[in-house]
Amino acid sequence: MTKVIVIGAGLAGSEAANYLANRNIQVILIEGKKVKLNPAQKITDYAELVCTNSLKSTREDSGHGLLKVEMDKLGSLILDAGRQHSVPAGDALAVNREDFSAEVTKRLSSHENITIVEDHAVNPNELIKKYEASACIVASGPLTSEGLSNWILEEISNDDFYFYDAIAPVVDADTLDYTKLYYKDRHKVPSEEEGVEADYLNAPMNEEQYNAFIKELVDAKKVPAQNFEDYKFFESCLPVDIMAERGPETARFSCMKPIGLELPDGTLPHACVQLRKENFLGSAFNLVGFQTRLTYGEQIRVFKMIPGFEDASFLHLGSVHRNSFLNSRTLLNFDFSSKKFDNIYFAGQITGVEGYTESAAMGLYVAAQLYKKLQGEEVLEWPVETGIGCLVNYVMTAPKPRPSNINFGLLPPVPLTKEQRRDRRNRKKVKKTLAAQRAKASFESFSEEYFK
Ligand SMILES: Cc1cc2nc3c(=O)[nH]c(=O)nc-3n(C[C@H](O)[C@H](O)[C@H](O)COP(=O)(O)OP(=O)(O)OC[C@H]3O[C@@H](n4cnc5c(N)ncnc54)[C@H](O)[C@@H]3O)c2cc1C
Repeated sequence: MTKVIVIGAGLAGSEAANYLANRNIQVILIEGKKVKLNPAQKITDYAELVCTNSLKSTREDSGHGLLKVEMDKLGSLILDAGRQHSVPAGDALAVNREDFSAEVTKRLSSHENITIVEDHAVNPNELIKKYEASACIVASGPLTSEGLSNWILEEISNDDFYFYDAIAPVVDADTLDYTKLYYKDRHKVPSEEEGVEADYLNAPMNEEQYNAFIKELVDAKKVPAQNFEDYKFFESCLPVDIMAERGPETARFSCMKPIGLELPDGTLPHACVQLRKENFLGSAFNLVGFQTRLTYGEQIRVFKMIPGFEDASFLHLGSVHRNSFLNSRTLLNFDFSSKKFDNIYFAGQITGVEGYTESAAMGLYVAAQLYKKLQGEEVLEWPVETGIGCLVNYVMTAPKPRPSNINFGLLPPVPLTKEQRRDRRNRKKVKKTLAAQRAKASFESFSEEYFK
């Protein structure tokens, strides 16, 4: 029986292991969590969601929705376990993180074709020899442990491949003052008749409160960068204190945006902090977009300035962590095998995508490509018009590697008629709808051929 090693049971590694094992490949899944957690991890179960509990939008006219349609076709374990343990989050697929990870762990551990090795892998070439495997998929993620990181640096890349990201705090729901807060999903009219409670709780601020809050965010003490480099963040996951430093209005146009969050009296607050349920019971809330570099003491002081947070107790506070990724364009082939060792593949965030869903999708992509190769079949490039194809194309062509989420900007432009171009009000929506339809059709015809 053909054997493949997968390093890392995160979002990408779990998908890759499951995909291959379901097709009768013997998988050795090596995961180091039980030996030592990294600074962002809290549990020993697999596929841990280390920051938000959201796998993002389910709408088919969104980038994440597109990915989900394609991942479902590939038999995604992450989406299936996610739906089984979802919590209300409007159009998004958010999950109870502990139950979700426990589910993924249970399914992988009980799979007859998967052998789990609880250890930190160091050298994929030696592991291939040791287990007499045909290939190894490295899916060790943005916080790849030290031994393997050094091996990658020495054997695969001489470039530095690390940068930073930040985690948002979580507050205890019982410690909030609800007289100052209100439930509302952005742009949605709450439907009392149906007894539907919105998924988001909002803390509104007037101009004076907002300005004082931004000033404190700027002045507060921050955790300094480690001994190398400046901080380099995902642009879409910027710490709120960095936004505050960029200008007094920046946060009001991003994570503190009030648009679509009218107060119960119909007026619009000057700014708003959104809270999303961390679990089904709603006993804890995540401060949406409030990743931060502030020291723990300063977080408690400054975040208590948010209306309703005067007596808040935080279940965990925000923090900053290292993230590693490769320059895939120069180091990998289009199937994400290494140019230097063609039986070593990379999957997940380490290839230069960003996000849980994107990383999981890259796990499926690599597993599908490797499976083709193991079957002696032709390994093909995936159409760039599809969600997965455009992400692969992005990491393989971006002149300056910088992890990206899925977004419609990665898809080739859709041709519009003259009338559609002139219709400024609806143009963006029409473009998205057409791009989504094209992606779906393209993936369908490609997969009919590819997976037959
Ligand atoms: C602090 C932080 C916060 C983030 N927040 C978000 C967010 O809110 N939303 C979002 O969509 N994305 C977020 N990301 C981005 C990222 O996409 C996710 O981290 C995602 O989990 C990456 O998936 P992955 O499978 O590539 O890696 P991971 O999910 O990290 O999985 C890698 C696995 O490999 C294991 N491992 C590492 N080294 C070894 C080794 N040598 N041997 C064996 N096992 C090893 C790890 O223990 C881990 O289980 C965040 C990233 C970080 C670092």
